[in-house]
Amino acid sequence: MSETALFSRVALLGIGLIGSSLARRMKRDGMSGHIVANARTQKSIDTALQLGFADSGTLDQAEAVKDADLVVVCSPVGTYAEIGARIGKHLKPGAILSDVGSVKEAVIRDLGPHVPTGVHLVPAHPVAGTEHSGPESGFAELFESRWCVLTPPTGTDAAAVAKMESLWKGCGSNVEIMEARHHDQVMAMTSHLPHLIAYTIVGTATDLENTLQNEVVKYSAGGFRDFTRIAASDPTMWRDIFLNNRDAVLEILQRFTEDLTALQRAIRWGEGDKLFEHFLRTREIRRGVIDAKQA
Ligand code: NAP
Repeated sequence: MSETALFSRVALLGIGLIGSSLARRMKRDGMSGHIVANARTQKSIDTALQLGFADSGTLDQAEAVKDADLVVVCSPVGTYAEIGARIGKHLKPGAILSDVGSVKEAVIRDLGPHVPTGVHLVPAHPVAGTEHSGPESGFAELFESRWCVLTPPTGTDAAAVAKMESLWKGCGSNVEIMEARHHDQVMAMTSHLPHLIAYTIVGTATDLENTLQNEVVKYSAGGFRDFTRIAASDPTMWRDIFLNNRDAVLEILQRFTEDLTALQRAIRWGEGDKLFEHFLRTREIRRGVIDAKQA
């Protein structure tokens, strides 16, 4: 183990895009000693060992977390309750239990009850990703200059939170601490609604009659192409996100629907000024994203 290591033994439950990127970064920069990989299939564990971002692997989650001083759940959020029940009593006293899930209230709801006294639950969400999945798709630079939001429940051990902050800063991320509910409301707007819109638009196109569908693909550079990239994101992961952030997504969807109707009305009544003002305002948002170096 290197002198800079934050953790001597890390267990990753899930080694797809996010889990394998975290493992690659920890290995590259000597932030951890031994890394144990766990996945749903032996094939992914074998890939992790071949690619060298894990030191050992097991399909047995109780075995994986035993003796680990950091356990990070990196699987779809719909699997958390089952995983919590399976690993709870095998967690080492003093260990940190964290995750990378895209929603946070449901994570605390599902993992919280299984965390024994003396183990610290520090949920995390690295706001970084691509539309690719699986252990081959990860890379060490994924989290560079991206935000990572930590949502420790009230009363969480400050030293455990500080350690997770160091880990994510070590991955190149900017770290923010936030209340889980607030995190879910923000993500409903910035991530979940855009994905839902992309899934809808691409779905609408696939329902078109054949001739029109071919033209859609041919002329996709007109804007449609960008939606197809987002709509290619992992179906299991996104099903779980919508089911586990239902209230916040439905709330923002209601507001979106009202705004869409207002634009529809402006088009119908030829209200050019209204449309122009709206598009001018949204252009400013894009400038803000570029200025914040999130483009
Ligand atoms: P992914 O590439 O599809 O990988 C998922 C991993 O979880 C795979 O290794 C899979 O095993 C494993 N898995 C599935 N069910 C499991 C179970 N019951 N127990 C243990 N492992 C299980 O997914 P990802 O993109 O890395 O996403 C993982 C998490 O990160 C999700 O909670 C997601 O919300 C969050 N997240 C994703 C992004 C993104 O853009 N992708 C960004 C931020 C956060 P197999 O390989 O054997 O199937």
